[in-house]
Amino acid sequence: MRIAVLGAGIIGLWTAFDLTERGFDVVVYADAPSTATTSASAVAVVTPLFPWSLEDHPELFEESLRWYRETLEKFRELNDDGDFMSVMPSFEFGYVDKDGREVLEKGFPASRLEQLSFTEIRKRYLNESIRVENEPDAFDDVTFAINFDADMVNTQKFLPYLEGVLRQRGVRFERKHFETLADLESIAERYLVNCLGIFSRFLFPEVGTEMYPIRGQSHFIPMANDPPYFGVASGHHAVFRHAEGFYLGSYFLSEVKSTWVGHGRSDRSDLRTLPTTTEWELTKKFATETYPILAEAMGFDVPSAPINEVSQVNTGVRPFREIGPVFGTRSVGLKMIVDNFGHGAHGWTIGYGATRKAVDKLIEVLANDEAL
Ligand SMILES: Cc1cc2nc3c(=O)[nH]c(=O)nc-3n(C[C@H](O)[C@H](O)[C@H](O)COP(=O)(O)OP(=O)(O)OC[C@H]3O[C@@H](n4cnc5c(N)ncnc54)[C@H](O)[C@@H]3O)c2cc1C
Repeated sequence: MRIAVLGAGIIGLWTAFDLTERGFDVVVYADAPSTATTSASAVAVVTPLFPWSLEDHPELFEESLRWYRETLEKFRELNDDGDFMSVMPSFEFGYVDKDGREVLEKGFPASRLEQLSFTEIRKRYLNESIRVENEPDAFDDVTFAINFDADMVNTQKFLPYLEGVLRQRGVRFERKHFETLADLESIAERYLVNCLGIFSRFLFPEVGTEMYPIRGQSHFIPMANDPPYFGVASGHHAVFRHAEGFYLGSYFLSEVKSTWVGHGRSDRSDLRTLPTTTEWELTKKFATETYPILAEAMGFDVPSAPINEVSQVNTGVRPFREIGPVFGTRSVGLKMIVDNFGHGAHGWTIGYGATRKAVDKLIEVLANDEAL
């Protein structure tokens, strides 16, 4: 039986991968190549710093940790073949918020790390606070750093690699844009898995209204670097110094939550992926001024990132949900649809594990359909 996967980002590709593992024929429809998706713009750190917590969403929290472990294991297994992973010491800087809690980027409470036990975690306090400009005229005075070894996936290598594996398995890729539900009728397959990321909000306005877009912009500087290799992150910003250059960026910008959540949004201006000057200016400031100070505080004597050597700027829109991805099932005309969208800032971290749940749902749908 042939299944249609809508979308060729990391979630669409994992879906096609799992489907072929389970013996299905697959065709992937997408309006852009995998290398031009939000997934390709990510600096893919595989870390389970989820926005949902054990206290508020115990099942989702435990399930997400399992998805994370399954995903990491799958990356490691495939890496022998594809060589797209690295492990990098990372330093996440934090501050004390107005309620007196120690928090990391996006308000993630440092105390929640104890629930995660995903790697060995060390905490270091600074002798004096360091000021970081998070957004224009919004500052964090960071006072400590959390240090751990971060697993990273090179998106520019992994997406073409996985697509290659799928093509070898006979998966067909077709370029197609779905503007309305009527466009779904133009494809032959009856069973569809929806991996359209943030666009799912427009095609299926009845689902995912808690999902909103969060822009991120990453910059790549290719150059041969000598050690040390490490990453420094604070607030919306990060610089990763690695053997082949630097990744840097303003990673979490333009929150538009209040205009999206619970609203039937039809204006797509927030989905634009043109790079912006504000993000560039903030990145530049962080990379040239703040990063060397933060690095020095952690004992690294390194120059600032050579900002004029940026060769590539990628902007993406995360399909953000504070309560995890959507795995709905429904019929539209003759089509049966299973959702696999809304992975937010963690599509790379949980993508494979979460996708297995979506494919399990599809198999349930097929079984029920057959029984009728
Ligand atoms: C700067 C940045 C840094 C990030 N860093 C990390 C990180 O460190 N770790 C992590 O886990 N995650 C990270 N993320 C988040 C991660 O990238 C997302 O969770 C993930 O990319 C979502 O994947 P997706 O396949 O659902 O969506 P997408 O990658 O957006 O793919 C959607 C697919 O649907 C297709 N499509 C959309 N609309 C239509 C349409 N109307 N018709 C036809 N096709 C359509 C697109 O062409 C595309 O193929 C980051 C994101 C950004 C932007």
